[in-house]
Amino acid sequence: MIQPFDGHAIAPETAAFLARPHRLLINGAWVDGAGEMETRDPATGLVLAQFHTGGAAEVDRAVKAARAAFEGPWGRMTVADRTAMLHKLARVMDAHATLLTELDIIDNGMPHFIAGLTTANCVEMVDYYAGAVMRIAGTTIAPPRHIAAETEALTYTLREPIGVAGQIVPWNVPLSTAILKLAPALAAGCTVVVKPSEETPLSALALGQIVLDAGLPAGVVNIINGVGAQAGQALAEHPGVDKISFTGSTATGRRIVQAALGNLKKVSLELGGKSPVVVMPDADLSLAIPGVAMATFFLQGQNCMAGTRIFAHAAIHDELVEGLAAFACSMTLGHGLDFATTQGPLISAAHTEKVMGYIERAKADGATLVAGGERLDRAGNFVKPTIFTGCDNAMPLMREEIFGPVMAVQRIETDDLDAIAALANDTPFGLSGSVWTRDLSTAHRMAKRIRSGHVSINCHGAVGTNIPFGGYGQSGWGREFGQEGLDAYLETKAVTARL
Ligand code: NAD
Repeated sequence: MIQPFDGHAIAPETAAFLARPHRLLINGAWVDGAGEMETRDPATGLVLAQFHTGGAAEVDRAVKAARAAFEGPWGRMTVADRTAMLHKLARVMDAHATLLTELDIIDNGMPHFIAGLTTANCVEMVDYYAGAVMRIAGTTIAPPRHIAAETEALTYTLREPIGVAGQIVPWNVPLSTAILKLAPALAAGCTVVVKPSEETPLSALALGQIVLDAGLPAGVVNIINGVGAQAGQALAEHPGVDKISFTGSTATGRRIVQAALGNLKKVSLELGGKSPVVVMPDADLSLAIPGVAMATFFLQGQNCMAGTRIFAHAAIHDELVEGLAAFACSMTLGHGLDFATTQGPLISAAHTEKVMGYIERAKADGATLVAGGERLDRAGNFVKPTIFTGCDNAMPLMREEIFGPVMAVQRIETDDLDAIAALANDTPFGLSGSVWTRDLSTAHRMAKRIRSGHVSINCHGAVGTNIPFGGYGQSGWGREFGQEGLDAYLETKAVTARL
């Protein structure tokens, strides 16, 4: 018989959280939604909780509450008080780190080592943006000639919050994606309506309670769970929303753009990826083998930055593949609450079917399977870490975002960096990428040639709180993290005064 959490213990705080009702957060109060859904532990398939869902009416109430808070207490707060309040939020999050970590483990399936890291990063991010509040500043500029020629004049700029931000979050790193939107928006002085993924509604609700406990005024943060086509669509369309920030698939990103047209709200998009990993003949394979393996298998491949297209130079191809296959076979699949687990389950049964479909298609297309390629024979949505060689850029395996633990290796025969880059850049996406070499010149020349928002050298996906992150091409619009992440919630107003 399947045990809840595979027989692993959860903290009393997490158990108490699961037992309470999971409602919507509107204007500082927990309220009933129009419907209910259930969320499951992807490692066991067992139901974790029922949660309330909202539609257009609940989104409308939340947007109005956010507007009132923007024009009221949040908008009028001094920057010193806003800074203090965000630091307080970080401290209360830290005090509930175990709850936040365990909720993402049981709701999303991520291994403990990843969930613990992302919770710590979330606390760091709130502190980082709290520290940025008092540095929000405009500039002084020479006034225009037609005024300055006649009289003394002054031009300066003000940075002002955009207003009410709608924030739509995916399931793959639930808390982290919510925080990397919420923290810069609040720091900028915006108020927010957050729409978490219906696959992973729980950590956002715990965050909502933390926001209340930290004393943020009612309506500054509103949380509406619900399905994308209802709650998400209503938020993206709402004329009272000034900015929509979306992270999710490229297909949904297109719908968001359409929905935002009504009031031409500002739009930020963090979308899918299919990132290249280039391994040169002089790469240090003792670094590259585990690094390249985790470029694909980190978060069971459900990672927008996943490096799933491996361009392996012929000189090291066989040794690299042998090492990658051994690494894949040594991974420990299991429940994320088990500290030994290095790869958890996929998010849902439906997503597992989709990933297995890509694996079957790759076999039919003639790619060579060297590791995995099948489900694990146990409850839950487990797919073994899978590696194909003999791949080329025409295969769906090399072109489409699979969002699972599936690696495609292509042998490259040339040393010409432009030719290698042409292969690596033959994709509609451009989110991440990495190059593995001992040669500094090759490393930086290849980093320049890869067309994506982030490139790592001798590591992969090395992003962080203060490093701007976003996509080229169909991987998105705009940047999150760092100063650019804050700028995304600020307008610039220029003022010219005849003195
Ligand atoms: P998804 O697009 O299915 O859903 C994302 C969110 O959008 C969910 O909250 C969903 O409910 C909502 N949504 C769905 N349809 C909507 C609609 N019509 N209108 C408004 N909202 C709608 O994506 P997902 O499956 O949850 O997440 C996986 C995808 O997210 C992958 O493509 C991955 O690459 C991408 N992602 C990108 C980044 C990044 O930073 N670029 C980070 C994480 C995930």
